[in-house]
Amino acid sequence: MKNQILEISKLAFGAPDFSKIKICDYKDAFNISIKNAKQEIKEITENNENSSFENTIEALENSGNDFERVAGIFYNLNEADTSEEMQQIAEDINPLVTEYTTGILLNDKLFEKIKKVYTKENKDEENRSSKLNIEQKRLLYETYKDFVRNGALLSQNDKIKYSQLVQEVSLLSLKFSRNVLSATNDYFLEVNNKEDIQDFPNFLIDMAKEEAIKREKKGWVFTLDAPCYGPFLKYCKKRELRQKIWEAYNSRCINGRFDNTKIIQQIVNIRIQIANILGYKTYADYALENRMAKNTSTVNKFLEDLLDKTLPHAKKDIEDIKLYAKSLGFEKDFMPWDFSFYSEKYRKAEFDLDDEETKPYFEISKVQKAIFDLAGRLYGLQFIENVTLPKYNPDVKIFEVYDNNQNQDSNKRFMALLYMDYYPRKSKRGGAWMTNFREESINNQKDERPFISVVTNFTKPNGDTPSLLTFRELTTILHEFGHALHGILAEGHYSSLTGTNVARDFVELPSQFMENWAYEKEFINTFAIHYKTGETIPESLMNKIIAAKNFNAGYAFVRQLIFGISDMAWHTLTEPFNENIVEFEHKCISKCKILPLLDGMAFSPSFGHIFSNGYSAGYYSYKWAEVLEADAFSKFKEDGLFNKNTSTSFRKNILSRGNIEDAEVLYRNFRGRNPQPEALLKQQGLI
Ligand SMILES: [Zn+2]
Repeated sequence: MKNQILEISKLAFGAPDFSKIKICDYKDAFNISIKNAKQEIKEITENNENSSFENTIEALENSGNDFERVAGIFYNLNEADTSEEMQQIAEDINPLVTEYTTGILLNDKLFEKIKKVYTKENKDEENRSSKLNIEQKRLLYETYKDFVRNGALLSQNDKIKYSQLVQEVSLLSLKFSRNVLSATNDYFLEVNNKEDIQDFPNFLIDMAKEEAIKREKKGWVFTLDAPCYGPFLKYCKKRELRQKIWEAYNSRCINGRFDNTKIIQQIVNIRIQIANILGYKTYADYALENRMAKNTSTVNKFLEDLLDKTLPHAKKDIEDIKLYAKSLGFEKDFMPWDFSFYSEKYRKAEFDLDDEETKPYFEISKVQKAIFDLAGRLYGLQFIENVTLPKYNPDVKIFEVYDNNQNQDSNKRFMALLYMDYYPRKSKRGGAWMTNFREESINNQKDERPFISVVTNFTKPNGDTPSLLTFRELTTILHEFGHALHGILAEGHYSSLTGTNVARDFVELPSQFMENWAYEKEFINTFAIHYKTGETIPESLMNKIIAAKNFNAGYAFVRQLIFGISDMAWHTLTEPFNENIVEFEHKCISKCKILPLLDGMAFSPSFGHIFSNGYSAGYYSYKWAEVLEADAFSKFKEDGLFNKNTSTSFRKNILSRGNIEDAEVLYRNFRGRNPQPEALLKQQGLI
C-alpha cells in the first residue's frame, strides 16, 4: 500500500486529498520526507561546483518540499481536527522534526556555502555587477541572516557556549510558565454566603459551582483563570473579596513555592549574554533587528510618544469612574480592585450593549457573503463554493477564489483554495486562526497557488436558529479573513517570503485593517439584516456599538503601553541584574502610573508573553500593528472607502508582497510616508 500523505495529489488544483489520509500513515510520512529532505541538503553541501545562488540558496529554499506538505497537513489538522492518536504522533515525532529543522541552521558546511554566495553578492553589488533580482537578494539576505542570528559566525567555543545559553533560557522559560500555571491553579476563593454573589451572571455562578464540586467544597469556588477572575472583579460587590482575589492575582510567583523572581533574573542575564556573544549591546537590539521597527530607540520613542498622548485620557477615564463611584456613595480611597467593578456599572448605565440585541443581525451566511463581496469590491476577487473536493470534516466549506481583474484572455485567474471551518467540536482547539495547507510559490515558472484555511469557534446553527455572531465574532472573522487575503493575494517565487511570512510587528496589519470595516455603516448596512424580521440594523444600535468601542479606551491603551514599556526595560539591560524585581518594575512604569502601585504586587513574575512565549522585546508590536492598521485605513477613508486606486495600491504594495521587501519600504510605497499614530488615536477617540 502506498503512503497517500506522501503522494502528490491528482485532484483539481492539486488540493489535498483528505479522503485518503490515514492517521497511521503520518509517522512513516514524516520519517520518509525528513530522510528525503536531509538527502537534499546533503546534495547541496556535497556539490563540487562553485557555490551559486541557484545551487545553494534556491536549492535550500526548495529542499524539504515533501516534509512541508506532510507537516502542513498534520500540524493544521492537529489543531482543527485532532484525536488522541494524532497528539501522540505529534509528541513522538517532535524530536525528529526538531533535529531536522535546527540541524539545518547548525550545518557548518551549508553555512560556508551560503557565506560564499553572500560575500560574492556583496562584491558584485559594489562593482554594480549583481545579477540577482530584488526577490533573490532578499532571499539571500534572509537566509544568511537566519544562520548568523543562530550563531553561524561564532568561533567553535562560542558556538558551544551560545547553544548552552539558548538551551538554558528555553528550560528556564518552561519553568517560568509552569510556575505561572501552578500558582494560578493553586489559589482559589471559596464563597459560602449567597448574598456575596447575588449580582453575578449565571455563567459565572455555574462555573463557580462546578469548580466547588470538583474541589469538594460546599459553596462557590472562584479561581484566577481569566474567564473567572475578570468577571469576578466586575460583578463582586463585596469589596474585601475583590481585594482578596486581586491581591492573589497580582502577587502570583513573587515568592513561595512558585517563585519566578530568581528565574527572571536568570533569564534576563542570560539574554544579555546571548546578545553580547552575537555582537549586540542588548537583547532588544538583537530581537528587533529583523522587525519593521528595527531598533531599540525607535521602539522606545514610539512607546513614549504614545504615552504622552494617551496618559491624560487614561487619567480622565479613571477620574470619570471615580466620580461615578462617588455618585453611588463610594467614599473610600479608590484602589485597583475597585476599577473593574465601578467601570462595569458605569458602562452598563452609559452604553448598555447586549450581545443578544445585536446577534440577530449577524447571521453567518450573510456575513460570509458580505466579506466575500467586500473582497470583490476592493480587489476584484470572486469566491465559488466547491462541493466536490474532499474535506477533513463535514463542517468545512471549500471555496475556489478567482481574480476577475486579470482576464485579458477572458479566463479569470485562479488565486487560491479557501477552507472555512466555523463551528466548534471536541477535536478542535479554542480560538480563531488562519493557516495554510500550502503556501504560494513559483516553481519552474509554475505558480503554485496557496491552500488557505480559516478556523473559528462560532455557535452552531440550532433547529430553526441559524448561526448568529456577536459583534466581537464579526470582528474576529474579519480579522482572520484579513490574514487569509494576505495569503490569497501572495505573489512571489519563494514561499518563505510570501503571504503571512513577514516580520512579527507587520503581520497583524492586513488582519487588523479588516476589523475597521465592522464600524463602517457603508459596509454593515449591506448585510446586517435581522434574520427573522428582515429589518436592517437600526442606526441607533450601530451608534451604540461605536460609542461602546471607545469606552475606557485611554485606560486600555495605557495598560498596553505599561506592558510594552516594562518589556523594553527588561530587555535593554546591559549589566547583570540582581535588584528586587518588584521595585524594578515599579520604577520603570512609575511614569505611566494611573492607579496606585502596591508593595509586593507586580505583573512581571507572571508575564508569560515576554518570559516564556517569544514576545520578548516584542510586546510593543500589538500597538505598532494598531498604528499601522489605523493609518492604512485612514488612507481609505480619505480617498473614499471603495476607491479603486487605493485598494489596488494596498494590494500591490502590501498584500501581494509578503516579505519580498522590507516592511518599512512596503508601507511607505503604499502610504507615501512613514506611519503616523494620529489615525489610531482618532479612531479610539483619544484626540
Ligand atoms: Zn491575527
